[in-house]
Amino acid sequence: MIGKNHIEVLKQLIGQENVKNDKPHRLAYSYDATREHFKPDVVVFPKDEEDVSKVLRYCNEHKIPVVPRGAGSGFTGGALPVSGGVVLAVEKYMNKILEIDTKNMVAVVQPGVLNKELQREVEKLGLFYPPDPASQEYSTLGGNVAENAGGMRAAKYGITKDYVMALRAVLPNGDIIRAGKKTIKDVAGYNIAGILIASEGTLAVITEITLKLLSKPKRTKTAMGVFHTVTQAMNAVYKSLAGGANPVAMEFLDNLTIRAVEEKFHKGLPTEAGAILISDIDGNVEEEINYQIELLRKYFKENGCSEFRVAKDEKEAADIWFARRNASQSITIYGSKKINEDVTVPRSELPKYLEEVDKISKKYNVKIPCFGHTGDGNVHTNVMVDGSDPKQVEIGYKAIEEIFKMTIEIGGTLSGEHGIGLSKAPFMKLAFTPQELNLFRAIKKAFDPNNILNPGKMGL
Ligand SMILES: Cc1cc2nc3c(=O)[nH]c(=O)nc-3n(C[C@H](O)[C@H](O)[C@H](O)COP(=O)(O)OP(=O)(O)OC[C@H]3O[C@@H](n4cnc5c(N)ncnc54)[C@H](O)[C@@H]3O)c2cc1C
Repeated sequence: MIGKNHIEVLKQLIGQENVKNDKPHRLAYSYDATREHFKPDVVVFPKDEEDVSKVLRYCNEHKIPVVPRGAGSGFTGGALPVSGGVVLAVEKYMNKILEIDTKNMVAVVQPGVLNKELQREVEKLGLFYPPDPASQEYSTLGGNVAENAGGMRAAKYGITKDYVMALRAVLPNGDIIRAGKKTIKDVAGYNIAGILIASEGTLAVITEITLKLLSKPKRTKTAMGVFHTVTQAMNAVYKSLAGGANPVAMEFLDNLTIRAVEEKFHKGLPTEAGAILISDIDGNVEEEINYQIELLRKYFKENGCSEFRVAKDEKEAADIWFARRNASQSITIYGSKKINEDVTVPRSELPKYLEEVDKISKKYNVKIPCFGHTGDGNVHTNVMVDGSDPKQVEIGYKAIEEIFKMTIEIGGTLSGEHGIGLSKAPFMKLAFTPQELNLFRAIKKAFDPNNILNPGKMGL
């Protein structure tokens, strides 16, 4: 618990009204999407970069922990103040789009801007910001950069890191730094922006983001393929992409997920199917889109697709996407607790990955519905257990550990988009050698020698 005197100084530094240590504020800023709770001692709302700098400089001098926070929608506990101290919340004031530069196709934003707000504003100008996490309506761009968020359009357009051109940030000692430029190319010096992306608030507080924009494609078509087995579907994913298909999205639902959505919503889904794949193809020219659709049809059919459907209009496309968009909430029929992981494997390993998950599910006698962004090799793998039964929960975590080990063995990673935070910290030693972990710690020490910024995260 930090002393009252520190709270008084923080008030003097950034204004009485921007420093809150009452019960409601401490509660409201104590959680994220993991549903774990850790109360901060105080919440601060910086008005600008200068305020961020003042808070950090003071906290560094007095070794007070500081946890940067966007919207608190993180899935791995990144924004949880596990050691108490200060939550530094950027969403209240630092939420402006500073510039949309149409000549250079670049946007400059403060970290608290919501992802969807930027998308809407640039689309009014015929431009396009592709990264679209499912949390786009409420997650912040600062949080997206700190977690390197991905979304449905990653198969074609990549993820947040592919759009970050430059950052401004405040180091734990209060120094303000710039990293990167508004230029397409910049190879001068170390790639500090690259290090800050996905650093989960452990190295610096991001205060300004310069993002690359594209021009908005004019048309989109949606297609769906039904497969008897998951293996067939996964073969179709990597073979179609290796064969030149370039879909915006290549999403998948396994049989357990299909059945869960059907049980909840009665949409006439093929409940006997081993898996379905859903793809969007976009572009400006009808011929190019049709060519891409035919490429998908060819590879899907060659790999055992029993039904290939192309949506005739927007309504049919929305109906197809309905199943995917409601997958996450539907699978709760299998258990009150969802141990939800987002491992990612090289795409050619997807068939093996899902076969192994099936074996682990049988070994531990737990249901593991899977769905997600197979176009990126990213599978949301959900171990479903009865949360009120500690034994079941323990079994669930054993199954997860085995899934992680297998993932690493086949060349995959612990997380494709949700980060490490608190929940995956114990597994870092499965994924990295002691030498690699030491390098991470040395980087952390170079930025944050007093370990005040988001301590206890990422297994550092
Ligand atoms: C329903 C739902 C769907 C989701 N779908 C997706 C998805 O499709 N793809 C995906 O990638 N993620 C998804 N997420 C996870 C989450 O939305 C993302 O990780 C998002 O990027 C977090 O943004 P946030 O503003 O909520 O950050 P927070 O949760 O507040 O913080 C996340 C991390 O970023 C750090 N941070 C935040 N702001 C800053 C800053 N200015 N400077 C430095 N560090 C900072 C925090 O310290 C923390 O470690 C989903 C979450 C939910 C609840």
